[in-house]
Amino acid sequence: MLKISPTVYAALRQHGEETYPYECCGVLLGRFEDDGTKTVVRVARCGNTRNDSPHNRYHIDPKELIRIQREGRERGEDIVGFYHSHPDHPAQWSQTDLAEAHWIGCSYVITSVEKGAATVTNSFELAGIDEPDKKFVDENVVL
Ligand SMILES: [Zn+2]
Repeated sequence: MLKISPTVYAALRQHGEETYPYECCGVLLGRFEDDGTKTVVRVARCGNTRNDSPHNRYHIDPKELIRIQREGRERGEDIVGFYHSHPDHPAQWSQTDLAEAHWIGCSYVITSVEKGAATVTNSFELAGIDEPDKKFVDENVVL
């Protein structure tokens, strides 16, 4: 289960509307609770560095990710997931999304942005024991 405050949830959906017709992407910061819930307290926006086809691919600069991770730790926050948008496509993960997901146990949130307006937001947890075993599992989002 992924718990997000309404403000943070609105912010990540709005990000996808702002970058439409291109994908947005960013990082979810918060904490892993003992019961397996992830609580998101903040999102960090990332620049989309994928210049070849930014409308259907996303990529976070590793240097940017390290900076976000360090700044989060200074506030006592962990990276609990990632988010991106699917302009004019359903909020379902693609094979590319799975191939590029490497943080097992983290949440991958996808928002569909139809004609510039955010519609469905879904979350998938990257489950499995290692890279060859990884898979996306549907996850409840609770505001
Ligand atoms: Zn995607």
